[in-house]
Amino acid sequence: MRSSNRTVLVTGASRGIGAAIALGLARRGYDVALNDIERQKDALSDVAGQIEAMGRRTVIAFADVSRKGEVEAMVKTVADSFGHIDAVVNNAGILIAGEVEGLREEYWDSVMDVNAKGTFLVIQALLPLMKARKYGRIVNIASIGGKHGAPSQAHYSASKAAVMGFTRVLAQEVGVDGITANCVCPGIILTDMGRVNLDDPEVRNSWQEKTAIRRIGDPEDVVGTVAFFASDDAGFITGQSLNVDGGIVLS
Ligand code: NAP
Repeated sequence: MRSSNRTVLVTGASRGIGAAIALGLARRGYDVALNDIERQKDALSDVAGQIEAMGRRTVIAFADVSRKGEVEAMVKTVADSFGHIDAVVNNAGILIAGEVEGLREEYWDSVMDVNAKGTFLVIQALLPLMKARKYGRIVNIASIGGKHGAPSQAHYSASKAAVMGFTRVLAQEVGVDGITANCVCPGIILTDMGRVNLDDPEVRNSWQEKTAIRRIGDPEDVVGTVAFFASDDAGFITGQSLNVDGGIVLS
């Protein structure tokens, strides 16, 4: 599954799963465009430095993925720098925990804006470029939360279910243009976001017990599946949502 002269844009790439994906794809031969919000400048520069040390090209393109104007500028920066964009990994996401009864309306809006609308805006800005080349690989990071979920995450679960539904229809629209679109659904992964589920040792233990492989995931555990969906080996797979969760949601 090694790729050469391939380019990919990874959103939310400054840390956690996004940084692991960016580095993992660079290791597999991709030139990698790195997105995050500007406040993550230092962390993003660090990831860029590691990619350059591998001999790959990289470009940093700041944008809040929930803002259309910033997303369009981001895609232009990447296209101007790389000439073309073969693949995108929509990884940027947020989780603000809260039970439904007391959930603040702005938390619902923020989570939907970044996770669901952000994915849509990035893809909408990229599609003309991918269609022009009759080639594209879209990988959206959803979550097992979008299939099963846990208390205090109803809005997050709804946003990730939205990403999966969106991806299924997108796949039907763009297949004719040589573009595939799939979702990767991580389980419980040890990142800053994952710690919401893992800070309490009892909760952490119960997630471990629910996992067939009996361990919490690392960001690196997600990389191989993303690389597969981004590769030509996955050219006949589209509209799918694959769990990468060590065996929590079995389907
Ligand atoms: P993380 O450690 O919180 O990293 C997320 C990154 O996305 C951060 O750098 C964050 O920057 C950035 N980001 C947030 N909002 C953004 C926006 N509007 N525009 C651009 N970048 C933005 O999270 P993670 O655990 O690596 O999660 C990555 C993806 O995997 C998310 O989509 C998440 O929902 C999904 N996921 C994670 C788990 C898990 O257990 N960790 C499980 C299932 C799915 P700021 O911090 O500056 O906001």
